[in-house]
Amino acid sequence: MTEAYFRNITFAKKPQQHMKKHNYSAGPCILPQDVFEKSAQAVLNFNNSGLSILEISHRSKDFVAVMEEARALALELLGLQGKGYQALFLHGGASLEFLMVPYNLMKVNGKAAYLDTGTWANSAIKEAKSFGETVVVASSKPENYNHIPKGYNVPSDADYFHCTSNNTIFGTQMKEFPTLDIPMVCDMSSDIFSRTLDFSQFDLIYAGAQKNMGPAGTTLVVVKEEILGKSGRTIPSMLDYKQHIDKESMYNTPAVFAIYTSLLTLQWLKNLGGIAAIEKVNEAKAQLLYTEIDRNPLFKGTAEQADRSIMNATFLLNDEAHAPLFDSMWKEAGISGLPGHRSVGGYRASMYNALPLESVQVLVEVMKELEVRS
Ligand SMILES: *Cc1c(COP(=O)(O)O)cnc(C)c1O
Repeated sequence: MTEAYFRNITFAKKPQQHMKKHNYSAGPCILPQDVFEKSAQAVLNFNNSGLSILEISHRSKDFVAVMEEARALALELLGLQGKGYQALFLHGGASLEFLMVPYNLMKVNGKAAYLDTGTWANSAIKEAKSFGETVVVASSKPENYNHIPKGYNVPSDADYFHCTSNNTIFGTQMKEFPTLDIPMVCDMSSDIFSRTLDFSQFDLIYAGAQKNMGPAGTTLVVVKEEILGKSGRTIPSMLDYKQHIDKESMYNTPAVFAIYTSLLTLQWLKNLGGIAAIEKVNEAKAQLLYTEIDRNPLFKGTAEQADRSIMNATFLLNDEAHAPLFDSMWKEAGISGLPGHRSVGGYRASMYNALPLESVQVLVEVMKELEVRS
């Protein structure tokens, strides 16, 4: 039933056809067809105003309404409305959050605890180190991040604990989170709005829009207000969450187009039935692909099974000699964006919310066909 919402995409059957590709790109990534169409329309004529969304003031009534709805809908979808949280749409990508988090939360002479589960976690740790003592509670780096460390201890005197819910590059995903007495911060860039979780266990969530929510250019930050204002640092205005909250996420000109398009995606998700509905589709897609990776003797997955991501599936050919044929076959089938990140090699199928089940069926057919032809 849910599939009906992935409406009428005519996919390319051959690469030379200028039709929609099955886009497995890790980010920026596929968005719902409806969102592409509505946002394109808004570039030409926003809300029948005779003006483009690109040429109106961010202080105009129409755009203020967009910002307010986007902030409220993000909280609503996460089940965090009325629980002391604020949603912000900021600049600088998830990468700027790597330093805004310690700037706002790490006390002068304090310390922070980090879980090292991949390249992005590592970048977050690097920034935190320039603010103060940064304890890495566990790391899966020696095994090239093929799993999520378990059984680690988080020091109770740390100012906060930081983790990465989904490791976009390595194809692993945290299924459980520790219960702590200190604030928990989570980089959810590549799996926000994809699965049901008790989001109230987190005190600060951030996500670059371009993985599962919208185009590049804005970052969603969801923060529990009570954790702010305790670091004892003088924070530059643009990096101060409190400033952005006071200014209702309009301290300076926001990324109007990226935020509007993100709102369209959030509306699409709400109409679909919210996170619980998309989670079922995401699980079906992941199960279909992982079942084939495990069944097909030509392929093997790179992440430990228990920690496999339902968003980014990383896999290798057992024999590289099959690569030229496989690559030509999936390209011929209208698939795009499948090569793996250079730090893992092989292939990575990013199956974000907007990727239809049909696209995964096409990939699985190609994998089966390769077995027959090789
Ligand atoms: C892509 C990604 C980032 C970096 O996002 P930018 O918006 O490009 O800064 C950070 N964390 C995770 C988990 C990501 O997938």
